[in-house]
Amino acid sequence: MSTFYQSVQRNFDRAAALTTMPKGLLSQIRECNSVLQLRFPVKIGRQIKVIEAYRVQHSHHRLPTKGGIRYSSHVTQDEVMALASLMTYKCALVDVPFGGAKGGVKITPWKYTEDQLERITRRYTSELIKKNFIGPGIDVPAPDYGTGGREMAWILDTYNVFKGGDIDSIACVTGKPVHQNGIRGRVEATGRGVYYGLKELLSIEEDVKKIGMEPGMEGKTIVIQGLGNVGRYAGIICRNEGGAKIIAVSEYEGSIYDPKGIDIDKLCKHRSSTGSILGFNGAKNLESREAALELECDILIPAALENQIHKGNAKRIKAKIIAEAANGPVTADAQEILLKKGTIIIPDMYLNAGGVTVSYFEWLKNLSHMRFGRMEKRFDQNVYENLVGFVEKQTGKSANNKEKKFLVKGADEIDLVRSGLEETMVTAYHQFRNVYKRKRNVKDLRTAAFITALEKIGNDYINMGVFP
Ligand code: NAD
Repeated sequence: MSTFYQSVQRNFDRAAALTTMPKGLLSQIRECNSVLQLRFPVKIGRQIKVIEAYRVQHSHHRLPTKGGIRYSSHVTQDEVMALASLMTYKCALVDVPFGGAKGGVKITPWKYTEDQLERITRRYTSELIKKNFIGPGIDVPAPDYGTGGREMAWILDTYNVFKGGDIDSIACVTGKPVHQNGIRGRVEATGRGVYYGLKELLSIEEDVKKIGMEPGMEGKTIVIQGLGNVGRYAGIICRNEGGAKIIAVSEYEGSIYDPKGIDIDKLCKHRSSTGSILGFNGAKNLESREAALELECDILIPAALENQIHKGNAKRIKAKIIAEAANGPVTADAQEILLKKGTIIIPDMYLNAGGVTVSYFEWLKNLSHMRFGRMEKRFDQNVYENLVGFVEKQTGKSANNKEKKFLVKGADEIDLVRSGLEETMVTAYHQFRNVYKRKRNVKDLRTAAFITALEKIGNDYINMGVFP
């Protein structure tokens, strides 16, 4: 089986072969620019444990570089290089002006106490500072698998210990809690981006009819793998705002199925109180955690880890659409099998770009030192109130309080973040769908997304004067 990095490179090569870009330029885009390998000691109980960690900056064509930090026992240099590469293409695809990066710490987070995790995070951050691998204009981490707002707050605090005099220091990391210079809507951003991307694809009648579906998300059956940050919000929003039916969920401990639909909010509460998704109200426990992936459904959302759909199980996957919420969930081998069956694969580099898009908004907020909406919310509200008053006077009819409240509302930070995210996901989708439709030899959405990203990165290098 190919490694994750080899899979990404294979997908890159397939797309690169369909462009007219010079070979040297393609090689420059393809390779990781800086790879930092770390081994550092941390006191765990009475022992010193040597922790293995990485930070990879895939592309310096735009700075800062940007990418999450993963805590997992599966972290390898290969995996971090693959994830950093994907970040470059992802940022280019959704017009987020960063190069790609990724970090990984090889630990099983739940085997450590909070105090120990804090020590590991702070030491990892100090190493990044020492090697000049972090900073608002250098490299900006964010959450990924196994990390969240808590870790990002520790990173910021550690950075401030060393660089507190830097007026922009709060922009050294994103995904921070809102009360610690984060932004509203970041926690749900990746899952919400998955929803906007899926909704856009499903709205195009011509495309969905080809796979025997009616347009729209309402009533579509969905299976989700992984109920972490991404899977959870993707499920909640597709259900609550899109009217989809989540018929099965797979987690580490097993999988459950309920054809009537699963309330993800309630399932998450059940998991927090019992420690497992199994035994959830009315749902059937399936024989294994993999079993859910092979169920008959409209959409499969893998939102756990890479290499989950591989040569071994691809033939048994029955979903008409695979929505790659995780990074690299479908291997290059599996993709060939699925495309032959007519499955639509919405590529990770597009579909999970909601996280980095809202991280970009957070970075901008931090650099401007002001909450979005602060300047214009009241002004807009006053303008709308005047407008409503004028219409009432002219028509002799008046809106009731509820209608008035709705009509005169100025945009809050959360409204602007959601609208910016939707705009980003919709625009990017049509950019690479056009490549898919127009280029005769482009047979899948991933290749189209790669070509779109490669052309943008190539143009950056050409504009820099690095390549003729
Ligand atoms: P997370 O740690 O919050 O959640 C992942 C969940 O998957 C966990 O609940 C875990 O128990 C479960 N899981 C692990 N292995 C599984 C398996 N074999 N079967 C079923 N469930 C399994 O992680 P996350 O932040 O939600 O990230 C998930 C994926 O999305 C990763 O590939 C990550 O790189 C990608 N991603 C995350 C973000 C983000 O903003 N967090 C952004 C873009 C992409």
